[in-house]
Amino acid sequence: MRTVKAASIRMERVDRQSTEMRMDALERRIAKLESQLQPLGATCPKCRAFGFRYDSAVPRTGFGGKNLHMMKCRFCGFTEEKLAD
Ligand SMILES: [Zn+2]
Repeated sequence: MRTVKAASIRMERVDRQSTEMRMDALERRIAKLESQLQPLGATCPKCRAFGFRYDSAVPRTGFGGKNLHMMKCRFCGFTEEKLAD
């Protein structure tokens, strides 16, 4: 019966490995979905479309050491500088 037990332990190990692989795949899928959701951004002040988002950083001194963020609407192209938090 010893061989049967050893075989079942081996099976458990294989199960755990494939579960970890599935978890990895799921995490990658979630990360991908999150990165796809991110670009939606906020409501554009100009065209009111839901596509106003962070475009690039504007490095600048002043404003208490805070940087400016360039926000851009992906629909009408409206840009606005915003103080970074
Ligand atoms: Zn817009």
